[in-house]
Amino acid sequence: MSVSGLCEVCQRPAVDHTCDRCGNLVCDRHFDARREICSECVTQIEGGDPADPTGTGDDMPDGVDIYRF
Ligand SMILES: [Zn+2]
Ligand SMILES: [Zn+2]
Repeated sequence: MSVSGLCEVCQRPAVDHTCDRCGNLVCDRHFDARREICSECVTQIEGGDPADPTGTGDDMPDGVDIYRF
C-alpha cells in the first residue's frame, strides 16, 4: 500500500506491483503475477508487445516454454 507513482508501461496512476526483475512500478494490467515481473520483462523473456499483455502468452499452454530451449 506504500507503492506510489505511475505505471512504467501505460502511465496509469494506479500502480499495485513492483517488477521483481527490473524494479519497474506497474499496474495490475502490466504485471505478471505468476512470474512477479512486469509485462516489459515478459516481453524480453518471451517476445511480444509490451502494450498488449493479453497477447504475451496468457493464451498459450504452459508447456510452450519447454520448446524454447
Ligand atoms: Zn500499466
Ligand atoms: Zn520488469
